Amino acid sequence: MTQIIYGSELSAELKENMRSKVESWVSIGMRTPCLAVILVGDNSASESYVRGKEKACAAVGIKTNTIRLSSSISQEELEKTICDCTKDDTVDGILIQLPLPEGFNEDRAIACIDPQKDVDGLHPLNFGRFFMNQPSFVPCTPLGIMELLNRMECNPKGKHAVVIGRSKLVGTPVARLLQNANATVTICHSHTANLKELTNLADILIVAVGKPKMIDAQYVKEGAYVIDVGVNSVDGHLCGDVDFESVAPKAGAITPVPKGVGPMTICMLLQNTITAYEKRQGL
Ligand code: NAP
Repeated sequence: MTQIIYGSELSAELKENMRSKVESWVSIGMRTPCLAVILVGDNSASESYVRGKEKACAAVGIKTNTIRLSSSISQEELEKTICDCTKDDTVDGILIQLPLPEGFNEDRAIACIDPQKDVDGLHPLNFGRFFMNQPSFVPCTPLGIMELLNRMECNPKGKHAVVIGRSKLVGTPVARLLQNANATVTICHSHTANLKELTNLADILIVAVGKPKMIDAQYVKEGAYVIDVGVNSVDGHLCGDVDFESVAPKAGAITPVPKGVGPMTICMLLQNTITAYEKRQGL
């Protein structure tokens, strides 16, 4: 019988633990953890993602300081705002809502974040440390995927994991986490010639492509653990990169879209913010 693993349920449990942790700090007079969110321009999807993050932070007692900037500001003004957050002792985590509007240099903006406040794990220093197996912040979606595998009672050790997608945000870091967990990892991308052959070897299949329902049952080995990272809007409805109806009966365990990876990404952002707070408070 296929397990359907809901990130929405797992994240609610993890958030409850975070909420009581924050409550215990505040009850003894410590300051409230704070996440600064920098939003440039008026993209409606970005606005909605930021609202989701604000709501999740509020639910566990993390304060958010959302800084809304017009898309007409200069790169230098944006960088000054990020540097101000870096210097602000009451700010524990800094998140720049991506993508930035056209004309901004994301890499330069991210490089202005204090690596100790880089709760998205995108600063080159954190990325480098992560790949050198040193303590670092790790991007939130890959962390959430590992929590979902854990909830599936899937130990990656000795398993063959196939990751479709090699982005900085998802594919590349999740492949590294799986490798660190002693899986044998194959990374596929748009130039992979024999995708179906490779995915059929996967005990663990992570799909992060951005193409609606691209992966159907023909791509999936019987009993595989399948994590669908994709978020696509088709005719006003959200769907993943995996054709859930066809794959679910064949998989051993699978995450749905929505209510799968998405809530875990936000949950790991809260976790990273709490970790940043703990480090800064010497806890
Ligand atoms: P991305 O930067 O666009 O990367 C997509 C990857 O898919 C690339 O590595 C690309 O290969 C590969 N690809 C494209 N077409 C392919 C094909 N036909 N066969 C095999 N590989 C192919 O996207 P992303 O940021 O990683 O995001 C992927 C999806 O996850 C999107 O739907 C995004 O919205 C979603 N997402 C969800 C969350 C969440 O919290 N739920 C978080 C982040 C992203 P090349 O490298 O060769 O171009």
